[in-house]
Amino acid sequence: MDFGFSEEQDLLRAEVRKLLDGRCGLERVRKLMETGPGYDPDVWRELAELGWLGLTIPEAYGGAGLGWVDLVVLLQETGRSLFPSPLISTTLAAAAVLESRSEEQKQRWLPSLADGTRVGTLAFLEASDSFAPGAIALTGKPDGDAWLLTGEKRYVHDAGAANLFVVAFRTGGAATDLALAIVDAGAAGVTSAGFPTIDATKRLGTLKLEGARVPRSAVLGVPGAAWPAIERLLDLGAVAVTAELTGAAEAALAITTQYAKDRLQFGHPIGKYQGVKHPLAEMHVELESTKSLLYYAAWAVAESPGELPRSASLAKAFGSDAFTRIGIDGVQLHGAVGYTAEYDIQLYLKRAKWARPAFGDSDFHYERVARLGGL
Ligand SMILES: Cc1cc2nc3c(=O)[nH]c(=O)nc-3n(C[C@H](O)[C@H](O)[C@H](O)COP(=O)(O)OP(=O)(O)OC[C@H]3O[C@@H](n4cnc5c(N)ncnc54)[C@H](O)[C@@H]3O)c2cc1C
Repeated sequence: MDFGFSEEQDLLRAEVRKLLDGRCGLERVRKLMETGPGYDPDVWRELAELGWLGLTIPEAYGGAGLGWVDLVVLLQETGRSLFPSPLISTTLAAAAVLESRSEEQKQRWLPSLADGTRVGTLAFLEASDSFAPGAIALTGKPDGDAWLLTGEKRYVHDAGAANLFVVAFRTGGAATDLALAIVDAGAAGVTSAGFPTIDATKRLGTLKLEGARVPRSAVLGVPGAAWPAIERLLDLGAVAVTAELTGAAEAALAITTQYAKDRLQFGHPIGKYQGVKHPLAEMHVELESTKSLLYYAAWAVAESPGELPRSASLAKAFGSDAFTRIGIDGVQLHGAVGYTAEYDIQLYLKRAKWARPAFGDSDFHYERVARLGGL
């Protein structure tokens, strides 16, 4: 396995960086945070034109046909500048369609997810806020050539922006009697609403279904047998969030290191003192460790799917804790100004707090690693 990035991936990184620096630097991000949609539809369209929204969608369906390691490159850069957009959500919705293996369904939904006209997201969690299969209560009742879906999804990423929801629902009494269906935001009996989170660059929301009629042709895979597909989507979500958080953590470390060089105390930059130098070194080590775990998990997506659950959990567990510490230490090393709105470091601490529970916190993932290891 080659742990370095290819020339093409380095080029992709440079292109993404150039676009985000030019079109959506932190000053612009701060403005977007205050808006209703929370992201810039013009930049969203530009990303689509460059092929980045459909990066992991095959070319036959309008995408760029690249893999999850390439996606990591893109997401590290969006994370670095806290770029607000429903990119991860749309990528995961596309993954759900791709993995359904139905040619008709791929042709129906993937091109519009790749060109940005459809914004997708996964709707999995409910009031119990648990990732266990038994926690899905939203019920599907067969009705002729359709399913009638009733229930409520919570903590749905980008619920306010999405017009295509990939909804997990219950088809029977056993814990894993589950199915996945594509639900159109505009369909009868469907209401969705978004709200800002502690990190105003990210939005969550709710999806309410009241007897929403979903044709059988919109059910992905075999009804009642969707748990493995759902679990894989949650793993992909964990990898995607970890990719963004490593980019954000790198930026937090860079901002803090710069502050330590600029801020003079007793005639020296504070970075000269061990009390500042050592935490910076710890932040660096934690970041590099997260990156190694992340790259392995991203590689496993296509190359070793059996290893994905354990490696995704390790990356998300370690990364969630590491980024939280990096965010807190970053604010601390800035001294009293760190928490003020004028300084950018507080934005990264807030991103760390958003990323921690997204697709499972460290407790959930470490327990899963232990379970998968037979403990
Ligand atoms: C709203 C508010 C309330 C406050 N309340 C209190 C209070 O109740 N009690 C109180 O005592 N203070 C209080 N402060 C002051 C605050 O604790 C100090 O500002 C703090 O000591 C950080 O100093 P600084 O902002 O100048 O950071 P800087 O001097 O820029 O320091 C940044 C970081 O470097 C570290 N550092 C600096 N010099 C060295 C060195 N020589 N060796 C090792 N590490 C170093 C600092 O600990 C800090 O983590 C308050 C400040 C604010 C804004």
